[in-house]
Amino acid sequence: MQPIIIIGSGMAGYTLAREYRKLNQEQPLIMICADDGASYAKPTLSNALASNKNPTQIALADATKMATQLNMQIHTHAWVEAIDTITHTLRYVKDQQHVELEFSQLVFAVGANPIRLAISGDGSDEMFVINSLSDYQKFRKSLDQQHTQRIAILGAGLIGCEFANDLHQAGHHTTVIDLASQPLGRLLPAHVAEAFKHQLQHVDIRFILETTVERISKIDTHYAITLANGHSIEADAVICAIGLQPNIDLAQRAGLHTSRGIITNSRMQTNLDGIYALGDCAEVNGLLLPYVMPLMQQARALAKTLAGTHTHVHYPAMPVAVKTPVAPLTVLPVPQNVTVNWETEYLEDGLIAKAFDNTNTLRGFALLGATAAKQRLSLTKLVPDLIPAQV
Ligand code: FAD
Repeated sequence: MQPIIIIGSGMAGYTLAREYRKLNQEQPLIMICADDGASYAKPTLSNALASNKNPTQIALADATKMATQLNMQIHTHAWVEAIDTITHTLRYVKDQQHVELEFSQLVFAVGANPIRLAISGDGSDEMFVINSLSDYQKFRKSLDQQHTQRIAILGAGLIGCEFANDLHQAGHHTTVIDLASQPLGRLLPAHVAEAFKHQLQHVDIRFILETTVERISKIDTHYAITLANGHSIEADAVICAIGLQPNIDLAQRAGLHTSRGIITNSRMQTNLDGIYALGDCAEVNGLLLPYVMPLMQQARALAKTLAGTHTHVHYPAMPVAVKTPVAPLTVLPVPQNVTVNWETEYLEDGLIAKAFDNTNTLRGFALLGATAAKQRLSLTKLVPDLIPAQV
């Protein structure tokens, strides 16, 4: 019996393996990953300081333990470099050895890569990019060893704002820089973003918007950051959090169809039989949703398909909780291509903003503050599914 192979040991890869093992305990299962295969919840990285976790406490289990638990082989520090979709064979490289494996079914769970800015200056190579536990371990080591008081964060998206809040709560001075005129540009309308920013600024998290970083120069133990608007600031560390792009290189080389992500139908199937994708790398039914809830839904459905029952993914409305405790925020983003009108109720500690389409159906919302957060469940129930359940 040829194995099912999963490439990637992130939340997508491990959730799929867990769901699959609930349905089938016999089928050989192999995971191949470029990292050490530790299982961890990635969202923990941006609130580890506030929750008093040091990096060694974040991993839930190492690869050996996961292999036993899930009755699977896990090849760690192994890079999949080529896939032959005709012979159903893949080749990976580990310790400079090239190994070929055959598969019955193959799953891409290869995640997304941080976008890197080309910035001049001798300090730009020392920017931290945090998209894995090992990235975070490096960052925390530097934070613990050096006098790192002032931290500049490039990017006012979800990850940039969460790190700004977490570092602020641990006593650091944080400055968030973005080309956009508002934080969380992809998730929030301008008036909600303004209120959110105001709450963060209230605790001295600084925003420098509508400009970008041109140069990062190293001066002794700190950095001088030159901005395109002519100003400059100093920082002891710089984090780059300007966004992620799905990892599609390997898939493209294997002949899979890609757009922003690896294109799949609602069964997570690519254009080739027996080859699937899920998680941050996958564009499922035209939707790229790089969050935990969608990948859980995908994993549940794909596990059934791999076990022999073709199953479509069900996407209910899936709000995203932004982990900024000084400005608690829950957002249900409005689907692209839907035109909405926002109705906003202002509260003492925040606001409730609801997005209605032209049929007066609720299509999204933003809840800022602890009072508004209580509406999360009742509002979510009113929003139509993104992909309805199919029977
Ligand atoms: P990844 O975790 O990136 O895993 C990809 C895997 O593929 C890795 O094991 C890698 O080694 C492997 N790989 C890649 N290429 C190869 C190759 N060629 N050969 C072998 N192995 C390969 N989402 C939320 O819903 N809520 C949150 O609060 C939240 N907070 C977040 C905070 C941070 C700091 C970050 C970075 C993300 C956050 N997210 C959040 C997003 C969420 O964590 C991701 O959607 C999810 O973890 C993606 O998992 P994944 O398995 O698809 O990808």
